[in-house]
Amino acid sequence: MYKVDSDFATEFICDAEILESLDCAKKNKNNLDVIKNILERAKNLNGLSHRDAIILLENNDKNIEQEIFTLANYIKQKFYGNRIVLFAPLYLSNYCVNGCVYCPYCFANKNMPRKKLTQDEIKQEVIFLQDMGHKRLALESGEDPINCPIEYILESINTIYKIKHKHGAIRRVNINIAATEINNYKKLKAAGIGTYILFQETYNKKNYEKLHPSGPKHNYNYHTEAMDRAMIAGIDDVGLGVLFGLDSYKYDFVGLLMHAEHLEKKFGVGPHTISVPRIRPANNINPENFNSVPDNIFKKIVAVLRIAVPYTGLIISTRESKEMRKEILGLGISQISAASNTSVGGYLVNKKNNLAQFDTDDKRSLDEIVYWLLELNHIPSFCTACYREGRTGEKFMSITKAKNILNCCGPNALLTLQEYLEDYASEKTKMLGEKIISRELEKIENKKTHDLLEKYLARIKNGERDFRF
Ligand code: SF4
Ligand code: SF4
Repeated sequence: MYKVDSDFATEFICDAEILESLDCAKKNKNNLDVIKNILERAKNLNGLSHRDAIILLENNDKNIEQEIFTLANYIKQKFYGNRIVLFAPLYLSNYCVNGCVYCPYCFANKNMPRKKLTQDEIKQEVIFLQDMGHKRLALESGEDPINCPIEYILESINTIYKIKHKHGAIRRVNINIAATEINNYKKLKAAGIGTYILFQETYNKKNYEKLHPSGPKHNYNYHTEAMDRAMIAGIDDVGLGVLFGLDSYKYDFVGLLMHAEHLEKKFGVGPHTISVPRIRPANNINPENFNSVPDNIFKKIVAVLRIAVPYTGLIISTRESKEMRKEILGLGISQISAASNTSVGGYLVNKKNNLAQFDTDDKRSLDEIVYWLLELNHIPSFCTACYREGRTGEKFMSITKAKNILNCCGPNALLTLQEYLEDYASEKTKMLGEKIISRELEKIENKKTHDLLEKYLARIKNGERDFRF
């Protein structure tokens, strides 16, 4: 039985409801009246249900597709403006007791050397990332209670927040670690994490159990209910995602939206972010053995997600190529990783050994990506203001749903870009960035914000740091 606010995974991610939604989408995919009605409602910027969203995704009409793409871009601009938030992953450990068949870190892969960074190595990696200009990290680690217990993760977070090198500082640490218990989520909350990220991989229970044949992650219910436990523990910014390619993309698309609806209904707070990774080659992993999602479908998935959950940050990683990232930036993406290394110690301390979880496609430096975003009229942002100002969970959502977060995102993007230009940019990027900051500053209509921002920008040029709205 489908019950959106149930405590049980198989009720809020109800297989029968997903299958009925897929069936309904098949029946209505060419019904122009239905489609037009959904698009009209989407223009109110209140999002769409999973049933509406899958109908849009199923439709193949090129004109409708164009309408979807235009609307997705419009919605992104309305909620978040033209800023794109940048971050990098930091892999702490690849010890893992799970058997995920699509991941080279699975314990059965004996070709994979294992490594866990020491606190000193973390320091070296973080200084390297700070010297690039990063302010926001996503910590990644395999699941291994002996080699990588929660105490190690907490110690690592503490180490990272303490590192201040030149003007560098990591101001927000997001965490992507295995599903755990409420008391551990409480500890993560107390350690000052930003978002807790956990990918569902696939919502199809049967297939999930096959893809995760062993280890604690095999337990579908425990994994799927993890975000509820995190919320109960007080972590009110959570990040969802599926690994597109593991199951039918349609099934996972509907499951993902049902999960978002569940969190919203039960806790009053939808997902802070949604990530849309597609499966990539890696040690022992060939994506051809999975259901790869073609580019044209992938673009539509991104656009319809933006329309369906307009308030949520949409994240794309360096798994995707420069060309694909350029296209989907205009379809609702609001955060991207940049200059990422997906290997434990891969930035500096263990560069020679490839311990990557997957191959990246976009291998450009952070400066190249900043310049590229500026050229494309996006504002690269290193902003971390919200959780530092207590704008999390319900508070964040109510500001964002009222379309007021833009008043913070825009100025903060310019402030953090100015810091980047002062401390890390190449001459070429600095010149272009300065020009764009002046242009964007003049666009700010609210006089108080304009004047304060102008003052802060001048103070950054004089050596001060870390202003925020
Ligand atoms: S996906 Fe995560 S849990 Fe699964 S094997 Fe890889 S690191 Fe371990
Ligand atoms: S103001 Fe908040 S939502 Fe906007 S970029 Fe900064 S942290 Fe993100």
